[in-house]
Amino acid sequence: MKDNNCIFCKIAAGEIPSKTIYEDDKFRVIMDLGAASEGHALILPKDHYANLMELDEETASSVLPLAGKISRAMMKSLDCDGLNLVQNNGEEAGQTVMHFHLHMIPRYKGGNEVIEWKPGSPSAEELEETAAKIREAL
Ligand code: AMP
Ligand code: ZN
Repeated sequence: MKDNNCIFCKIAAGEIPSKTIYEDDKFRVIMDLGAASEGHALILPKDHYANLMELDEETASSVLPLAGKISRAMMKSLDCDGLNLVQNNGEEAGQTVMHFHLHMIPRYKGGNEVIEWKPGSPSAEELEETAAKIREAL
């Protein structure tokens, strides 16, 4: 299903032009216009899912094999030294386009920081309490 108000639906369908790396019946992989590094790409499903929580299992199960294929091509063609996969869900998590997408960000020695966090130091009890909350919701 498409969402008529969604820019990524239109890009995935080819209604808005993009620099496309790969396309099949389920996905389009495009260059990110605000690239964080050379080669930064986005995997877009052609159907509209707002985020990971809405993604259907069949599409979800095809995303990582495709990311692997694109990663191998990036490592071979761009001379990058590593690669981050980033996937934001919700505004607080940095999601700005509410159509599921997986960022593929090649990394280069001496290049910009892309993803950083300060490690915390939760106690074993805190970890267990949080783990229990999530387990109970499964
Ligand atoms: P996020 O913040 O995870 O929602 O990522 C949205 C990404 O989409 C950002 O990295 C933008 O640079 C990128 N972006 C937004 N509009 C376009 C567009 N028309 N074509 C390509 N990339 C886009
Ligand atoms: Zn969409």
